[in-house]
Amino acid sequence: MQHEFDFHELKATDRLPSPSGTALAIIKLINRNNVSAQEIAKVVKMDPALTARLLAFANSATFGLIRPVVSIQDAIMLIGMATVSKFALTLSLVGKYKEGACNGFDYTLYWSKSLLFGVTISAIMSRDRTVPPEEAFTLGILADVGRLALATAWPDLYAECAIMADPKQLAAREQELFAIDNNSLTIMLLKDWGLPPIFLDGLRQSRMPISDELQENRTLRLAKQMVLAGKICQYCLAGAARRSGLLPNLQKIASQYSFENDALLSFIDDIIKQWQEWGKSLGIDTELLEAPLDPIAQKEAELSQLNLLLVDDDPMMLARLQKQLSITGHNVSVCSDGESALKHIVEHGAHIIITDWHMQPMNGLELCKALRQTEFGKNLYIIMLTATESEESLVQAYSVGIDDYVTKPVNLRVLKARMWAGQRIIGLQQQLMEERKQLERATNQLVVSNRRLQQIANTDPLTGLANRRYTMARLEQEWEAAQRYNRPFSVLMLDLDHFKSINDNLGHAIGDQVLIHAGKIIKESSRASDVVCRIGGEEFFVIATNTDRAAAQVLAERIRSRIELRQVQDICLLKPLTISIGVAATVGSKYNWRELMKLADQALYQAKHSSRNAVIVAT
Ligand code: GH3
Ligand code: MG
Ligand code: MG
Repeated sequence: MQHEFDFHELKATDRLPSPSGTALAIIKLINRNNVSAQEIAKVVKMDPALTARLLAFANSATFGLIRPVVSIQDAIMLIGMATVSKFALTLSLVGKYKEGACNGFDYTLYWSKSLLFGVTISAIMSRDRTVPPEEAFTLGILADVGRLALATAWPDLYAECAIMADPKQLAAREQELFAIDNNSLTIMLLKDWGLPPIFLDGLRQSRMPISDELQENRTLRLAKQMVLAGKICQYCLAGAARRSGLLPNLQKIASQYSFENDALLSFIDDIIKQWQEWGKSLGIDTELLEAPLDPIAQKEAELSQLNLLLVDDDPMMLARLQKQLSITGHNVSVCSDGESALKHIVEHGAHIIITDWHMQPMNGLELCKALRQTEFGKNLYIIMLTATESEESLVQAYSVGIDDYVTKPVNLRVLKARMWAGQRIIGLQQQLMEERKQLERATNQLVVSNRRLQQIANTDPLTGLANRRYTMARLEQEWEAAQRYNRPFSVLMLDLDHFKSINDNLGHAIGDQVLIHAGKIIKESSRASDVVCRIGGEEFFVIATNTDRAAAQVLAERIRSRIELRQVQDICLLKPLTISIGVAATVGSKYNWRELMKLADQALYQAKHSSRNAVIVAT
């Protein structure tokens, strides 16, 4: 679909979502001044489904009526005309597009999020009014309607886009497929439905990075408020576990709107309540959210990951406790004596052990003692169930390593509270382990980056060849190795001819390119075991291991002729590039590496003073 996107053509095909005629008529009426409830009731009554829903909404708990409302006009008076229009609009869209043909497009989630966004932006407007809250609600509900529209118009094609999470990638793919992206289509639709320009501009701006340099005006304020609304929605939709991670950033943004932290949280609670009430009335699922937890329930939710082991020889007691603790989400295993408990722990592990004292074979004390002597048993949290033990016995129990005790008959609330302490300790241990792992990871990274640093320190950045520092160290090493194994050893000192004039005539940047080019040829002409270096501006050096004088001369000649033959492409030099090379070789300890280098340098000097573009071998 490469042609240009034509909104009116698409609209004519009737494949775009549109609110019902009733909803549009109500919105128009409300926008008129001094419209009466009677007039609106007349329009509403033309739509039986809307009538029924509105009456149900008026009679819902939201309004806390004593006597039920039966006339639609009374319902409208009660609900308020502005709210009726929000209701009509949303209901007419949700009703038609609650489900659809686009696989991969989550219609339920779409409506749930849209409703949440509408409620949120409307709540923000009630607090800090940039536009009227009722109208903001409409804008919120429709803020993503372009996605719904694409899914409705091209259900098969859009399936692939519907599951994309990254907005940038999504927009790019939409452009490819439909010659428009969902944001632009949203704006077109909202404009078509008669939403005011400030909404369109605010929405557009809220989807782009907001720079500090933009001038503060109503549109910008609306855009920023929409960004805040988006963050609040993200927070509401996140599970309890992820919320704490999102909170600091949200608080930071909200503080620009003078939200104290507590005020923000109760503001959000209020939004969630409204969202759920609206959801009930409109038939939109809001159960996606994990309901807010009270502190005790929250603790228990955190505990649900634990593996508990109950050890008791009283089967009734075991069964009861297992059931009660399982209900709160724990993984509960049971054993009837210390010996089988020990076996179970060896095989399956556990976080918390709750054990009776008197059992056969192996009582609770012996179990505890045995566990504390093992590596894996050291960190287990052990709670002892006691009956009528004396203080003396309790002291003894602590001395073999129990962490806590609970008296029989077991009070479930108390036992669970004691387990929280265990949970805390286990949490700390796990944290410690995690930190240790992180430390190991960091150490490994350090090793890698040290290696990289070392490489950087040894390399000439322009040509990627070894630099002078590395060359000198390596030369010494290689020379010593050659000595040890009595192998021939040669070095080449190379210097480009009249290089300065390249710089002078064509500039330093071209000079650099020539250096890179020459370095490459020298490297390619050498063996893998040779060390090729750049030791100065246009001076190179080759350490040729296990290479005698004749072979070194051949190597030097190969380099010289290739430099002459393969000129730099795309650069027109005044004179062809050539190189002069001095070679020095040794066997045994006749010359040390310093002397060898000096000999090669002298040979190079000779080459420069004969004809240049030449190889001279030191004798
Ligand atoms: P000769 O044939 O006698 O070797 O003449 P030459 O011009 O090659 O030698 P000279 O030593 O006079 O000049 C070397 C030039 O190399 C001078 C310096 O500006 C240039 N040079 C040194 N390092 C770099 C570099 O990294 N990049 C570039 N483009 N030029 C460099
Ligand atoms: Mg030179
Ligand atoms: Mg030079």
